[in-house]
Amino acid sequence: MRLVDTHSHIHDAEFARDRADADAAIERARAAGVTLIATLGVDRADSEAAVAFAERHPDAVVAAAGVHPHAAKDASDVDLDALEALARHPRVALVGEIGMDLYRNLSPRDQQLRVLRRQLDTARRVSKPIAVHAREAHDEVMPVLAAWSHEMGGRLPDGRPLGVLHYFSADAGRARTYVALGFVISVHTSVTHPKATQLAGVVRDTPLEHLVLETDSPYGAPQRYRGTRNEPAYVAEAAARVAEIKCISIEEVAETTTRNAERLLGAGTMYESTALQTARHARD
Ligand SMILES: [Zn+2]
Repeated sequence: MRLVDTHSHIHDAEFARDRADADAAIERARAAGVTLIATLGVDRADSEAAVAFAERHPDAVVAAAGVHPHAAKDASDVDLDALEALARHPRVALVGEIGMDLYRNLSPRDQQLRVLRRQLDTARRVSKPIAVHAREAHDEVMPVLAAWSHEMGGRLPDGRPLGVLHYFSADAGRARTYVALGFVISVHTSVTHPKATQLAGVVRDTPLEHLVLETDSPYGAPQRYRGTRNEPAYVAEAAARVAEIKCISIEEVAETTTRNAERLLGAGTMYESTALQTARHARD
């Protein structure tokens, strides 16, 4: 069984005490069947750290570069230009995390919107999907993404989805709209919590072909590990719960969500090419 954690912060100091701690978490993830982990930046310096981490783990980790809505108020044009350059890095799979958060409201709303729009331009120019953080902000984010989707023709030029709605927290109707706009929906490990009835409804109503899985580690551990640090290995808990909700096998959930995630993250183009090169080298 293969799994992908499409959203973590495993490079971050909040996650790991030190390098050995992070490496051990990657080994536990591998043992749980996780073949690929995305680690996302939340501002310029953090995105640079995410890329450095992905470079140290070329067989297991890809990075995302972006300014989180919480950090929007501190992002200068110089930072956003630097992030666009970073987004072209081969180890960067996604522009993210980007979006709007009107729940915690740590940056003014107009700043959040400005930085989101600027990064949609980045994603278009570098031709990479986006990872969207939208919390209590779907009324604001959805029309912006709808206009962008229209501009992009509903897909990236290479046919990949436009992005992922990370830690999806709206209802099944919203999920259907985002899917129609060319996005996939990410199911977080909190789907295992007894109170996650809305998310369970989203999982029930959204075809598996449009779902990916994530931990957002270190945040939001699944029910079985509640109160502890979340980590990429626990993405298996989300897979098991999705299987239960959809009354299908965990193997089918793993296979399909992994295929979706690899497409989203461009795994076929970026990483298998290394394996192919190695194979060709061995043959020659
Ligand atoms: Zn996150």
